[in-house]
Amino acid sequence: QDLLSNADLALIRAKTHCKGYHHFYTPDLNERVQHRIYLEETVRTALDEQMIQVYFQPVIDMETGRLSSSEALARLFHPERGEIPPGQFIPLAEENGLIYRLGEYVFRQACSQYAAWLELGVVDASVGINLSARQFIQPNLVDNLLGILQETGLSPDRVTIEITENSLMQDIDESVRTLRRFKDAGLQISIDDFGTGYSSLSYLKTLPVDQLKIDRSFIRDLMVRDNQAAIVTAIISMAHSMHMRVVAEGVETKQQFDFLKQSSCDYVQGYYFSKPLSVIHAQPHFEKETVF
Ligand code: C2E
Ligand code: CA
Ligand code: CA
Ligand code: CA
Repeated sequence: QDLLSNADLALIRAKTHCKGYHHFYTPDLNERVQHRIYLEETVRTALDEQMIQVYFQPVIDMETGRLSSSEALARLFHPERGEIPPGQFIPLAEENGLIYRLGEYVFRQACSQYAAWLELGVVDASVGINLSARQFIQPNLVDNLLGILQETGLSPDRVTIEITENSLMQDIDESVRTLRRFKDAGLQISIDDFGTGYSSLSYLKTLPVDQLKIDRSFIRDLMVRDNQAAIVTAIISMAHSMHMRVVAEGVETKQQFDFLKQSSCDYVQGYYFSKPLSVIHAQPHFEKETVF
């Protein structure tokens, strides 16, 4: 979070080329610059050398207790530094443009894994794949992703795009067109981190959306703050009245689960059921008979 922006960095690089500016740099600032450059290098190398893995976190159908889908989540394991969390490298990749490569890499990995699982008869579920704001406004996004689906042989109706409300809000008309193209091709649309953005309910009606994912922050405080429970109940009934399904993310306790079941939430995801799993760990849990 206290990483420097590209603008900061450009300024600092320019200044360090001029004599006499060195005394402005505190060790702390230097450290942050070093860290950012290091991280940038790490992400680039990770992409070149395929050090990025895709993990899958189960999303469970409330009614059956079985796997409904899973969310694909990027993992970066550095040989010396260990795991670098997506909360660090995704925003950085978003800033420096590496997100295009990273996003396509994750999309391709997730689709080919699901194609293989379906072929083996291991799973009967779909996969949720995150798209960042910058990816979403990329002009050839839809063609690229549909191309990857063809390449991997995964049926488009097995894929749900996860996109935050803020990404959609930047240009609503353009967003509607992009989402329409995904929908026409057979993909599903999910609004991620719902409740944290600036969207109004009225604009939601104009978007071709299948599902809302209630942000983890609402679920976390469900039992602590009265109004959180009221908000969650309201989101669920509003979504249902608009024929959308609802996923609650970050479900960690039985109490939260029971409340969500009572409130007619459709799907749940969180540590209460499972953390994101590597392919090898996911496979046995993803088999059709497994009840979570
Ligand atoms: P997100 O899309 O909201 O993903 C859900 C995050 O919540 C994941 O964090 C997941 O591990 C975490 N989580 C799930 N259940 C629980 C729980 O019960 N308790 C807690 N405390 N956390 C839970 P993760 O994997 O660290 O990813 C963080 C964010 O990074 C994601 O948030 C998403 O915005 C971004 N991200 C991850 N992979 C990708 C990717 O391939 N592409 C893009 N564009 N963004 C990604
Ligand atoms: Ca997500
Ligand atoms: Ca989310
Ligand atoms: Ca989130």
